[in-house]
Amino acid sequence: MHNFQAVLETIYHDAINADDKGKVATYIPELAHIDKGNLGIHLRTSDGKEYGVGDYNKPFSIQSISKVLALSKAMSLIGEDIWERIDVEPSGNPFNFLSLLEIENGIPRNPLINSGAIVIADVLISNLKNPKEDFLNYVRELTGDNTINFNKAVAHSEKVTGFKNYAAANLLKSFKNLNNPVEDVLDFYFHQCSIEMTCSQLSKAFYLFANKGKCLKNKLHITEQQVKRINALMLTCGFYDEAGEFAFEVGLPGKSGVGGGIVALLPEKFVISTWSPGLNIKGNSKLGMLALEQFTTKTKLSIF
Ligand code: GLN
Repeated sequence: MHNFQAVLETIYHDAINADDKGKVATYIPELAHIDKGNLGIHLRTSDGKEYGVGDYNKPFSIQSISKVLALSKAMSLIGEDIWERIDVEPSGNPFNFLSLLEIENGIPRNPLINSGAIVIADVLISNLKNPKEDFLNYVRELTGDNTINFNKAVAHSEKVTGFKNYAAANLLKSFKNLNNPVEDVLDFYFHQCSIEMTCSQLSKAFYLFANKGKCLKNKLHITEQQVKRINALMLTCGFYDEAGEFAFEVGLPGKSGVGGGIVALLPEKFVISTWSPGLNIKGNSKLGMLALEQFTTKTKLSIF
């Protein structure tokens, strides 16, 4: 048996003392002012025990982490049809990379890069009655926490600066891979990215991916096959052009966001979430990566 609390405390102290804490994302103006001295780590084991250190109860912008939750909702709504509109290959490119190769014939390479997530947003808009409200309720239900919300200032900040996302959406639209107006799809996408959560809420939200598709309340949201697919996508595509490095160093399926959050999991064992807003050059949290590498090295708990 591991003394998880002691492990987390050691890792926290090592990481917080690192000289290079990365750089906060400034391309979303509303995120630029966040202090990179923040570091939170939270672990939730499948037998319901929780461990936390540092800023694990401070809310942050989950950004691209929301893409996994959106994907799971879309899969529960339209099943395998999704793969007619999105591929499942790692891209080896940054999250916002735009090229005809990335969106070959209008098909994004995977659902976790921006162009893929924009197609997923389109699926959700077409299949939910009140898309933003229903998606937020899904996240609240998974987490068992109704306080979770969008940050409208962050969503607005992206709307007025998100030129690359507009370019990607227009490209997808030109290939007829968006059924709704570009403006509506991006409004949804920017809102899903603006959701704020703490590390401990994130560990709860992702519990279904470690628990065969059932959330904390034991309700089945997605099938075991869908869980397999989503975890495979997180492993191969969850960190953009650093997915190989994350698998190599940490060895868990996971997902990062430019708000500095990372969530990773070991099926049937645990979910672990970290938050530290300083990013490395690939756009992934510098201290979060460090902490997770230390966690799987010290506990030897990885999928490999
Ligand atoms: N909302 C961000 C964007 O579209 C999400 C990017 C991320 O977290 N990697 O640029």
